[in-house]
Amino acid sequence: MSNAANISKSTYKITADIPNCCGYGLCASMCPEIYKLDDNGIVYLATDTVSGDLVESAIEGAECCPAEVLKVTLID
Ligand code: SF4
Repeated sequence: MSNAANISKSTYKITADIPNCCGYGLCASMCPEIYKLDDNGIVYLATDTVSGDLVESAIEGAECCPAEVLKVTLID
């Protein structure tokens, strides 16, 4: 089984250290299904857990944040 298949079978928790968000918006362009921007361009989460097809883009969105605001961690 490929690594990508393993990732998509697990559930991940997403956390956002919102006070440190600088509003670059890279996360929202990488994974707009989960990372949303408010009227001030600051991130908020559409959901705090992710599984299945969105896991890879959720991780990519978190990793591209220059302020390291977003964390995606395995919960089961
Ligand atoms: S990439 Fe990081 S700093 Fe930019 S909007 Fe997303 S969470 Fe905020």
